[in-house]
Amino acid sequence: MSFTEFNLHEQVLEGLSAMNFTKPTPIQEQAIPAILDNKDLIACAQTGTGKTAAYLLPILDKITQSQQSNQINTIILAPTRELALQIDQQLEGFAYFVPVSSAAVYGGGDGASWDQQKNALVNGADIVIATPGRLIAHLNLGYVNVSKLEHLILDEADRMLDMGFYEDIMRIVSQLPKKRQTLLFSATMPHKIRELANKILVQPEQINI
Ligand code: AMP
Repeated sequence: MSFTEFNLHEQVLEGLSAMNFTKPTPIQEQAIPAILDNKDLIACAQTGTGKTAAYLLPILDKITQSQQSNQINTIILAPTRELALQIDQQLEGFAYFVPVSSAAVYGGGDGASWDQQKNALVNGADIVIATPGRLIAHLNLGYVNVSKLEHLILDEADRMLDMGFYEDIMRIVSQLPKKRQTLLFSATMPHKIRELANKILVQPEQINI
């Protein structure tokens, strides 16, 4: 199978070829059509399977088609700033040819300053990649407009729960539009992940890699 079979936007295909991706991995083969089809998704996949591109590519494709700007379209929640940065780097590689803006929002000293993160959120980066605690802190101050959000992605959801982010995730979700697409990726599927999925996903497709 090749990436051209997904009917992705020309600019997204250019990004793919710049990154030297030629053949989709198994999770990409299964997840990309489901996400393009606006389905909610629960995917059991480890790091190294290509899970990041499995959600970034269809989301980039949809944002490219939608021509919306200056509004947050997608929030990606990740457990650590290391993962948030890795996702942002992969996104910047793909998005080189695509008019999509992104912001990474996380705590700790070495990242963008609070004010830079605030400006990116106020100006409405298309895709926000965030650790839950830091995003909640910004949301609580009232300047983040999520009314036009279309996609919520939880990456390494099991690790987020292990790190005690359940309440933060639920508080974030409570502020988002109910009509949205939600994608949950997790390396393991313990009971508490199923419970979370039951609360925030609607009739999800399931993928096991
Ligand atoms: P991930 O599982 O998302 O952390 O991805 C693991 C690594 O595989 C990353 O360095 C990706 O850039 C790379 N990768 C993901 N999908 C593909 C693909 N279809 N072709 C080549 N490399 C890929």
